[in-house]
Amino acid sequence: MARPPSPPPAQVHDQLHVYSGHALIAHKLAVLRDRRTQPARFGQLLKELALMLLSHATAALPTQEVPVVTPMGRTTQRVLAKRVGFAPILRAGAGMIPAAQELVPGAPIWYLGLYRDEETLRPVRYYDKLQDYPPVDIALILDPMLATGGSAVLAASRLKEKGVEKVLYVGLIAAPEGVARLHQEHPDVEIHVAAVDERLNERGYIVPGLGDAGDRQNATGANEPTDDPFVPEEA
Ligand code: URA
Repeated sequence: MARPPSPPPAQVHDQLHVYSGHALIAHKLAVLRDRRTQPARFGQLLKELALMLLSHATAALPTQEVPVVTPMGRTTQRVLAKRVGFAPILRAGAGMIPAAQELVPGAPIWYLGLYRDEETLRPVRYYDKLQDYPPVDIALILDPMLATGGSAVLAASRLKEKGVEKVLYVGLIAAPEGVARLHQEHPDVEIHVAAVDERLNERGYIVPGLGDAGDRQNATGANEPTDDPFVPEEA
């Protein structure tokens, strides 16, 4: 069967990395977006996508050479040179933590509780214990949706305030408005996403997007499909 050529991951400007050209990322994101996808499947797909996106986003982290002795002899190999941590933005970013912990076991997880004021669409900080934590050099913000960009901007500012040298943002879907805002306020922050969608609607949701990423994981939306409905067999 003839296969359409898949474009390489797009790089729209020097800090924006969009992986919509990756066949498996595109496939998983399509299933995730579908309104019929139930919460448990949504959570599983979010984890799988986070694994792939984080693997791309971490490809160029700084490394250093170290001696390694294998069963066959001595060699020099590369290992991570900097302390890496993750900053998931609650609630939706929590679904990306299992992937982060699988890829970088033991990396500090700096939870940031930010919610969006529905009136002003501005982020409000309600949980932040960063002052208590030991430092990291590189922090990856985890949040599936880059909508207005307000939360990501606030998170990046907070991480820099805490002394983080390099901040990356990793998410699923961005709105052009969110990309522009984050890039304008923090031009040094790398943005890694699976797709950039058309626009934001008047309520600050990404269109076509996937709805509310927190509700879809946690079955808290008014119209979420229910997992595993029991359908009795015909007698
Ligand atoms: N947050 C979401 O969960 N979805 C959007 O579309 C925008 C912000």
